[in-house]
Amino acid sequence: MDKSQYRDVCVFVEQREGIIQKVALELLGKARELADNLNEKVIALLLGHEITGQTQELIAYGADVVVYADERELAEYNTEPYAQAITQFILQRRPAIVLIGATTIGRDLGPRLSARLSTGLTADCTALDISEERDLLMTRPAFGGNLMATIICKEHRPQMSTVRPGVMRIKPKDSSRQGVVENIKINFDNSKFKVKILKTVKEQKSRIDITEAKVLVSGGRGVGNKEGFEILECFAGTLGAEVSASRAMVDAGVMPHDRQVGQTGKTVRPDLYFALGISGAIQHLAGMEESEYIIAINKDKYAPIFNVADLGIVGDVRKIIPLLTEKLRK
Ligand code: FAD
Repeated sequence: MDKSQYRDVCVFVEQREGIIQKVALELLGKARELADNLNEKVIALLLGHEITGQTQELIAYGADVVVYADERELAEYNTEPYAQAITQFILQRRPAIVLIGATTIGRDLGPRLSARLSTGLTADCTALDISEERDLLMTRPAFGGNLMATIICKEHRPQMSTVRPGVMRIKPKDSSRQGVVENIKINFDNSKFKVKILKTVKEQKSRIDITEAKVLVSGGRGVGNKEGFEILECFAGTLGAEVSASRAMVDAGVMPHDRQVGQTGKTVRPDLYFALGISGAIQHLAGMEESEYIIAINKDKYAPIFNVADLGIVGDVRKIIPLLTEKLRK
């Protein structure tokens, strides 16, 4: 493969109901850094229907070029039309790097594209950089999070990576940035469309996603059971916080999986993170150590969570939290 034919860093811009997802802005920030390092451009690839109003926003967050395909077939995410559209775009435009959010959509799309393009894909990356040889260094946890592996796609292009939401930082918006907007037409092969979307049923969500929360009250095995988490809910109520959990409590059926923080849960970066009765296993730390301020309460003064905590309290969480709730209420 002639690698010199490939240049620029492309971000797949995930939109749902026409709303650009936060992860796309996070990826644009990272793509900007990588492209500056390579002295190349950032291309934002936006697929959908009646989505042209969004292009300026993508430039403001770091894109040099916004390529959009406005097609009825792309109105809602559907694997085959999306895979066809992106494959066509990549074959024509030949970006050196393609970044995709590791959301349910991205995790469906990434492997299809890499198979169609006969290139590699590193899933769930937590760090991206450029090597001296101008290859993309894709770092992700391996062996259950016990070590970090840096993977290179040396022989093939594009170099593809999915990145978990919440890992990369959004670049500050700059509305004065200038960029180019291009429209592309897709030649769909409708005979390959095997799935028809008949109806979309939305999950009822009354709570804020934990990745969006400014304050998180997270409980672990030390909190123990449902009654323990009710105490945390009261505490969270006094702070306008959301409640999350370690995997131990999700596996025990005490909390739902969408509240799990960590390597196999969500990556969070709140202003304030309470780690209550959580030991601080490496897989948990992977999801929260970037929090702005961490307060840990644990009865074991040697618990590893204290290594990342800004403030540590050695004591019984079941005694301390009700006292703290009462104080805060007053
Ligand atoms: P424990 O490790 O059992 O710790 C409980 C802590 O509570 C202890 O430190 C104890 O001293 C303290 N304690 C007990 N009673 C009290 C009390 N009354 N007051 C104060 N402190 C008390 N884990 C995650 O969290 N998220 C993940 O995404 C995740 N992914 C994983 C992926 C893989 C591949 C593997 C192998 C593991 C993963 N884990 C994950 C599990 C992880 O290794 C730990 O087992 C888990 O985080 C432990 O949860 P915990 O801290 O709640 O429980």
